[in-house]
Amino acid sequence: MKGVLYCNWQIHDEEANAWESECGLVWWFEVGEPKENEMNYCPKCGRHLTQLALDAGDSAASQTESKAEVLSSLLALSTRPHRQ
Ligand SMILES: [Zn+2]
Repeated sequence: MKGVLYCNWQIHDEEANAWESECGLVWWFEVGEPKENEMNYCPKCGRHLTQLALDAGDSAASQTESKAEVLSSLLALSTRPHRQ
């Protein structure tokens, strides 16, 4: 993790409010998001915690390919049956 100062967190299971970190940690919050729970640092790797919101804009789109994949699959699920 040389030169990387941030650990990206994204929602892992919306129903359970579980978040998954870039470094592989899964954390359940009783309520709210990591930032709302004052988690400014990742408990596992110690880097600055950043959130990737599902409905976020296109900032930093170049390094979030997996997020784009998640979004497109979500869109596909909501707009048409999964059938090819
Ligand atoms: Zn981390």
